[in-house]
Amino acid sequence: MAEPFFAGSLRGRGYKWRLFGRPIAHVRLFNMNSSEDKPVSPPSHFIREMIAADVRAGNQGSPVVTRFPPEPNGYLHIGHAKAICLDFGMAREFGGRCHLRMDDTNPAKESMEYVESIKTDVRWLGWDWGEHFYFSAHYFERMYDVACGLIRRGKAYVCELTQEQWKEYRGVPTRPGKESPFRNRPPAESLDLFARMRAGEFPDGSLCLRAKIDMASPNIHLRDPVLYRIMREHHYLTGDAWCIYPMYDFAHPLEDAFEGVTHSLCTLEFEVHRPLYDWVIDQLEDLPVRPRQTEFARLNLSYTVMSKRKLLELVQTKRVSGWDDPRMPTLCGLRRRGVPPEAIRAFCDEIGITKYNSLTDVALLEHCIRDVLNKTAPRRMAVMDPLPVTIENANDLPSFVEAVNNPEDPSAGSRRIPFGPALLIERGDFMETPPPKYFRLSPGKSVRIRYAGFLACTGVQKDANGALTGITCRWAPSEANLKVKGTIHWVPADARPVEVRLYDRLFTVEEPDAHEEKDFKDFLNPDSMKIASAFVEPALLEVQPGDRVQFERVGYFVADSEDSKTGVPVFNRTVTLKDTWAKASAGDAR
Ligand code: ATP
Ligand code: MG
Repeated sequence: MAEPFFAGSLRGRGYKWRLFGRPIAHVRLFNMNSSEDKPVSPPSHFIREMIAADVRAGNQGSPVVTRFPPEPNGYLHIGHAKAICLDFGMAREFGGRCHLRMDDTNPAKESMEYVESIKTDVRWLGWDWGEHFYFSAHYFERMYDVACGLIRRGKAYVCELTQEQWKEYRGVPTRPGKESPFRNRPPAESLDLFARMRAGEFPDGSLCLRAKIDMASPNIHLRDPVLYRIMREHHYLTGDAWCIYPMYDFAHPLEDAFEGVTHSLCTLEFEVHRPLYDWVIDQLEDLPVRPRQTEFARLNLSYTVMSKRKLLELVQTKRVSGWDDPRMPTLCGLRRRGVPPEAIRAFCDEIGITKYNSLTDVALLEHCIRDVLNKTAPRRMAVMDPLPVTIENANDLPSFVEAVNNPEDPSAGSRRIPFGPALLIERGDFMETPPPKYFRLSPGKSVRIRYAGFLACTGVQKDANGALTGITCRWAPSEANLKVKGTIHWVPADARPVEVRLYDRLFTVEEPDAHEEKDFKDFLNPDSMKIASAFVEPALLEVQPGDRVQFERVGYFVADSEDSKTGVPVFNRTVTLKDTWAKASAGDAR
């Protein structure tokens, strides 16, 4: 499909595409109909087109049914968000439904804690599965019956090869495999052995149930794949009721079929498994709908690792404070960091759905976060590195000023900030001997102070060592309309200090897990969290945990949901204000 949005342009949004890790182009999205840098509606994608065509042709029956099938062996991350937004998004768009299914056929690492976190995160992201919440484990009996049916029809057999033998017999893609000596044992014998496997008569790994497909297939997954293995593992739902568990490749198509899933969307690594998926579906009779698997590229994000195993390693080795550490790419981490769910949905729209593995620039995610927060976060003032200011003409001063809460949202109203002869400004907003074109404060120069008129610097104070300790200024009201180029922020001198956590990217390199000779943990950013304090205006002491604000000229922050107490908030920096993405693509540094 020809899309007007993909083209080179000086304006618009930059996309850094990579093919198998190598940059291939830097293309930009732009809106041909507009000269402004307005958001454009996301381009369509092949999955949307495919489902639309199926619906038109009545191919898959109606309604559209999708599913999101996480394994409850970790917390969801931003990569999962891509799959969630696709699965739930397509179902909603086509008036169908999306099931949330715990893919819990591998009990060793699964737990109820993860199940609960998954539900919380999917809901937080804004999706609703209604009554369609399922556990694969609840299908174990039905799956067992299907397996017995296959054995009866000569389509599966119990195999006694050891793991090593099995691997050797399987062969390599370029050479056919060898048939197992147990391949042609009578179904009755396999049925009996399978029942005894279930009953716990054999040790782990000694026997397995295999499909009888084709040992010469060029697709190794069709060379009599294992359908069931013996594994004495306690399952968080079924306890010790089972000691045989179905393999993913057998279980997944069955689950889709049992639930009437029409479109089973998964990531590219399952493409080579699709013939087996189809084989399993073909063995089932009287299917109301025939589920069909379609693959798309997973999300890879720069400066981030996304595998649950690696995220768990960061938690276990205490490199982060937990799954919800605000530096983690997990949904609970992003939530605690202050990222609004709308921003994640917008990001998922922006990245689109393709068949090519690529690396998405984390700056695009940060851009989407700023975009939402710019419209929604109340503006507040906080000074990070204070310099005391004494105003000479104290008698001219108002006792408070009126400050607009959000210039992007008139309905947000305004607030009063106490004003007086003693203020704090940022040390960095004053220079005693400024370079040319320095538009902030310096001796003899004036600057606008946010919501409160103007200051002209009339003097400096220093300690015995000559270090700057404060400045003296004259104040003029807004009506004075002085011609100045800079505006700085401030707080009253009795502002309270609060803890702020300045988060940065967790890794120092774009692809921390793409260096074979090094461990991804070697690339952890030692400066990914700095604890600082900020002197804040009174309104910032009233925030509730989870409230998001913009510290003017500093960044977007959220009151930490765990560590904030009434009247004593702790702020996490969500993102800085500097938008490298918008800057790169539109020359807009804000
Ligand atoms: P991980 O590699 O992080 O352990 P997984 O694929 O094993 O991930 P699952 O819980 O099985 O994790 O994932 C559930 C669904 O989310 C799958 O359909 C999977 O394809 C999809 N998914 C996982 N990671 C990504 C990603 N980075 N981008 C898009 N979809 C993803
Ligand atoms: Mg998986």
